[in-house]
Amino acid sequence: MKQGIGEQRGFVLHNRPLLQSEEPKIRRFQPLNEQEVRPMTLRLFNTLTGQLDELVPSDGKALRMYACGPTVYDYGHIGNFRTFLQVDVLRRYLKLAGTGVRHVMNITDVDDKIIRNAAAAEISISEYTAGFERAFFEDLDALRVERPEVIARATEHIPRMVELIQKLAAVGAAYQAEDGSWYFRLAAFPEYGKLSKKDLSGMEDGARVDLDEYEKDSARDFALWKAAKPGETSWETAIGCGRPGWHIECSTMAMEYLGESFDLHAGGEDLIFPHHENEIAQSESVTHKTFARHWMHVRFLLVDGRKMSKSEGNFYTLRDLLLKGYKASAIRLALISVPYRHQFNFTFDGLIEATAAIDRLRTFVARLKQGIFAPGFNSALQSAAKQAQDECRAALSNDLNTAEARAPIFDLIRTANTAIDHGQLRVVDRDAILGVLYQFDAVFDVLEDRDAEPTRHALAWAEQSGRLGDVSPELLARQGLTDEAIEALVAERTLAKKQRNFARADQIRNELAEKGVVLEDSKDGVRWKRK
Ligand SMILES: [Zn+2]
Repeated sequence: MKQGIGEQRGFVLHNRPLLQSEEPKIRRFQPLNEQEVRPMTLRLFNTLTGQLDELVPSDGKALRMYACGPTVYDYGHIGNFRTFLQVDVLRRYLKLAGTGVRHVMNITDVDDKIIRNAAAAEISISEYTAGFERAFFEDLDALRVERPEVIARATEHIPRMVELIQKLAAVGAAYQAEDGSWYFRLAAFPEYGKLSKKDLSGMEDGARVDLDEYEKDSARDFALWKAAKPGETSWETAIGCGRPGWHIECSTMAMEYLGESFDLHAGGEDLIFPHHENEIAQSESVTHKTFARHWMHVRFLLVDGRKMSKSEGNFYTLRDLLLKGYKASAIRLALISVPYRHQFNFTFDGLIEATAAIDRLRTFVARLKQGIFAPGFNSALQSAAKQAQDECRAALSNDLNTAEARAPIFDLIRTANTAIDHGQLRVVDRDAILGVLYQFDAVFDVLEDRDAEPTRHALAWAEQSGRLGDVSPELLARQGLTDEAIEALVAERTLAKKQRNFARADQIRNELAEKGVVLEDSKDGVRWKRK
């Protein structure tokens, strides 16, 4: 029996429920060369081996992956979100390829900064972190980042961390210092440095560091457990009164939910050393098994060619950008369009480009859905659709090359628009092209316009937190115009045109344009959309 595109081996077409009217149409598309359809594999760069390795679930079922989550002491900035978005691209691609995913992410809800900031605000650390944790998930939702299967808070896993430290002490890899803190003994793990490929020959035996973040080039015995200082939040445990270090949290929670050895560990490139190196040392010293087989690291971003920093005045949270009037979907597209291993230079021109690209995609889909096409198919368009689909998949399967995955989709749109202009696009072509677009969107997720909600939410937040001054005047003007008000103006303009009052009709069009509403006259009436 012939299969439609939605049922190919190991390939799930849709990542969201289809509208009922769409489903039967899509299924009619028959790929031209079915024998060429292969299961999708993924070759992903592995920091540990220094090469592209095929990523497959070791249990043959679901890929077990751990990605370092946020430390919830502030609002997430776009550099953080670039990492979360690129991990989202990975998990969506795996799902598209028919691979199950068990994805664990930690929430670091205790560390030096959190303790300091909560004390300054005179509230408990859980009160302090709860608001930022909520904000973090709101931001992920705005960017349409899928939730991991497991979200693990550090403070809810303290006894398991203590057990791991006890096991490390039992094998001679952990010791207690005079102040009651526990340290990892680097000399007990000769493979230390294998992930970051650092030359650690100058390492001083027994030199210690107790900060959560330390000098990039210093390798020192690092803190597993910090003895409580007077007045600090702490836990009373078998190894003393204190709190866990950052690194032990991730080792503990990764192994708790994924086992002693799992498929993939991901994070930002700044975590390679020391955080991930330390996770490996802590875990493998006890288990003598490879902690994570595959390591994925997302590169930093620059802003206008410079490192993003508060002092440079080029530091942006997601909320800052939403309040400047940029759409969440455009931010998503901009942050994922440069492949994860490339440095991404964030610019406002890039956001404007992403906005325009999304506009083209959505306008084109509307044209396909609303158009009336002759039955049958056009073989040139069938080939073009198949080629775009193959190229898009091939690019993603090659180290998640999102830039190369995007390009053929826009080529296809150009070809199809020309064909529609010349009356050469047929019903079967429309269905084939929609199928290709939905496959692309299973990873990119920008086709459907869900932008109003995150913007509304950011405005409500700005109002509550006294940041209305940060809202761009264009956004305020746009928000001032409700859908009903636009409809009324559009109706008034139609009437004015009928009465041959073209001056008034033009005036209304200009007024709406100033407020970011674009009108399109078609033979079926007037369509409008917000820019
Ligand atoms: Zn981590």
